Amino acid sequence: MVSPASRCFLLLVDGLRPDVAEDRLAAGDLPHLAEMLADGGHTRAITVFPSTTSVAYLPFLTGCTPGRCNVPSIRWLDRRVYTGRWWREREAVRSYCGYQAPRLDADIAPDVRTIFELVPDSVGIFTPVAKGLTPARDPSRRERQLWGSLAHYAQWHQPSDDAVARHLLRAVDGPARFVFAQFPAVDGYTHQAHPEAPMVLRALRKVDAVVGRLRTRLQARGELERSLVLVVSDHGASTVHTHLDLADWFRAQGVPTLSHPVLWEREPRAAVMVAGNGSAMVYARPGVPRERRWPVELLRRPDAFGVGADLVQALLREPAVGLVAAETDDGGVWVGAAGGAAVIRRTPRGIAYRPLTGDPLQVGGARSGTIGDWLDATWDAEYPDAAYHLLDQFRADRAGDLLVVAREGYDFRWRYEVPEHRAGHGSLARSHMQTPVWSSEPLAAEPIRTVDLFPAMLNWLGEPVPAGLDGQPIWLPGEQLRRAGERGLAPAGRPDLERLPMSR
Ligand SMILES: [Zn+2]
Repeated sequence: MVSPASRCFLLLVDGLRPDVAEDRLAAGDLPHLAEMLADGGHTRAITVFPSTTSVAYLPFLTGCTPGRCNVPSIRWLDRRVYTGRWWREREAVRSYCGYQAPRLDADIAPDVRTIFELVPDSVGIFTPVAKGLTPARDPSRRERQLWGSLAHYAQWHQPSDDAVARHLLRAVDGPARFVFAQFPAVDGYTHQAHPEAPMVLRALRKVDAVVGRLRTRLQARGELERSLVLVVSDHGASTVHTHLDLADWFRAQGVPTLSHPVLWEREPRAAVMVAGNGSAMVYARPGVPRERRWPVELLRRPDAFGVGADLVQALLREPAVGLVAAETDDGGVWVGAAGGAAVIRRTPRGIAYRPLTGDPLQVGGARSGTIGDWLDATWDAEYPDAAYHLLDQFRADRAGDLLVVAREGYDFRWRYEVPEHRAGHGSLARSHMQTPVWSSEPLAAEPIRTVDLFPAMLNWLGEPVPAGLDGQPIWLPGEQLRRAGERGLAPAGRPDLERLPMSR
């Protein structure tokens, strides 16, 4: 049974696709993970939107979604204060991809606590979310910056993973009860080539070897039984054949547009903040501070961006664009695709989706249910669990007016991406949203959300689970089989899913 001395090791292989990992497992390429799964289990989890590094770590480390954390993306603009003075107000425009990366911790909503705050005996290795960690408990902070920048330009990612492995194995002999370790190489090599490239598979085999050494070490210490080892990922990836630079697209329509990395733009009428690079948030008239987002009714007016045309409609005509979403003036979320639009709303039970002129989320027409129903029904759809994640995105004050989601095979960044990304993520596509969850403890086959792992880990560690999380206790390792059975029998009747944590 779970004792206070139990330990948890969360190993995050950034950008690992579940199908790629499952194929390697079936091929016998991952012997140490296979051994772990013989007593444990594996399933797939749906990550958060945008499906991109650092934002998609929040559910694992806080039990809350990006919307709840008020960190809607890796780049955003503070619409309430930005007046267009790009240098003086540079703090009102955020990008965690450069020197502002350390700002992420303080940007997380103050009432959201990280696992590092809740579990004082914890360590984070190569973690971009470090809120609550002292320098001693973030032992690779310097190396992460060094290897991270080297890897970016030299396309040399394995040394980062090797450094992570050294710190992880060292942490086994330390007092930490919770250890988070991030392995960046799979994502790095994926961007450089494709999700199943030989370099990606080699990096995965090396992670497998690290899991073997970790378990041998725990066995020698007599701690294997009381250690929960989880191997997870924050997002998937897919090959990109065409780049459409979305900021340049707005400029080509005649809209002066602010975008990273060169923020200077005279009187911008749009700001484009790309993530991953498969999605973007667009802010209309970013130099004019306002409290509220513009609803879709206003955004579609010809004068919205000052070019005498409905740019939402124009976006939907682009082959690169899969979905566009914005709030409605009566509190819903409008979502459009080339084939028509629908509205998503929160209901007392969960989420309702109503087609207006089409079925952009491709769920087969009108549908309503609990958030658990939505996960069960759509985890393997074209856009898995998208209704939940689109609503979540607009919970963040900092989110843009418009969300633009790329169609698979396309991304939104071209001019400044060095080296060129041949594969990417960040959208709502299945290949980006599905992730593997491999556990040393038995796990039901039903998919979960990555955010649901947070209460599972705290419960394993014998720590109280804070109220108000987005993560649901649908899998509690050690008690998992009973709950998994309940879930399989009555997916709509899970009482813990009736409460809708999305409403504040
Ligand atoms: Zn990536």
